[in-house]
Amino acid sequence: MREFAKVSLGIYPTPLYRLSGVSAKLGTNVWIKRDDLCGVALGGNKVRKLEYLLADAKAKGYELVMTTGQAQSNHAMLTAACALKLGMKPVLVLKKRGVCARRGNQVLNYLMGVDVRFVDTDSYDDIYRAMDRIADELGMPAYKIPCGGSNALGSVGYVDCMREIAESGVAFDAAVCACGSGGTAAGVALGAALHMPGTRVIAAMVDTDPFDVIVPEIMRESARLLDVRTELPTPEFINLCGPGYSIPSEEGNEAIRLMLQSEGIVLDACYTGKAFAGLVRLAREGRFKPTDNVLFIHTGGAGGLFAQDWEKENM
Ligand SMILES: *Cc1c(COP(=O)(O)O)cnc(C)c1O
Repeated sequence: MREFAKVSLGIYPTPLYRLSGVSAKLGTNVWIKRDDLCGVALGGNKVRKLEYLLADAKAKGYELVMTTGQAQSNHAMLTAACALKLGMKPVLVLKKRGVCARRGNQVLNYLMGVDVRFVDTDSYDDIYRAMDRIADELGMPAYKIPCGGSNALGSVGYVDCMREIAESGVAFDAAVCACGSGGTAAGVALGAALHMPGTRVIAAMVDTDPFDVIVPEIMRESARLLDVRTELPTPEFINLCGPGYSIPSEEGNEAIRLMLQSEGIVLDACYTGKAFAGLVRLAREGRFKPTDNVLFIHTGGAGGLFAQDWEKENM
């Protein structure tokens, strides 16, 4: 397996432990991998990806880093935090979608003093054109990170995460993670194939993109980068999107309450609440045995919880 340079940004390994309250309620052994506790800003899955992406940017001599997403993007906020930590200049070129006011992750972008530009578009082509224009304006070449940091190199961060989990020695029957742009699920599935071949990977889709095409494609490209020739079993996809991307669902909000009330662990309404709801749904359908070890990968996202208007719960 080929190795890639990475910069150290998070505190790894993140905690991994069994959730006794949730396990008792769901009738199977539920474990959690706390990638929300990785030590940068409010934590989250993007930090593992950025350890590779920003190492690549540095190696290629870039000082300016740009990325995109919606207004409350955890990925964009973490890209800014990580770039600043490395002494690089971040510019966030965000879709003017979602809560653009100074709430949630936008509070952190504001306090970091980040250059945030909103573009009123649904098209990433428009966003990348805006990035080129801004780079020209600043007179610096920009290292452009795609939405969610979801490319072949970023996904290698989750191959690492699965190796870290394998080193715990616990045999997991299944691993559940949120799937929003696909890079995490791709890395988890590739990492499972390499390091935990007995573990079934379940990707809880929180958006409506064709992940059954996107995720295997990223897996193939990551495997090519790493120069591994293993069989690539695709994850099992379950649909947890509900009323739409970043719109809370009843099922997701119930799962947020279950996790917070039983374990004191904070999930969010866009990603991790819905993903955990997927695990809860499968457990209630009897898909896990009482002796199974089922892993929930906590991918962060707390910031988004505080952007939402909880006076009207489903907004
Ligand atoms: C981005 C994100 C995800 C989804 O990861 P992808 O690699 O984009 O599929 C899950 N949880 C949180 C909190 C995120 O910010």
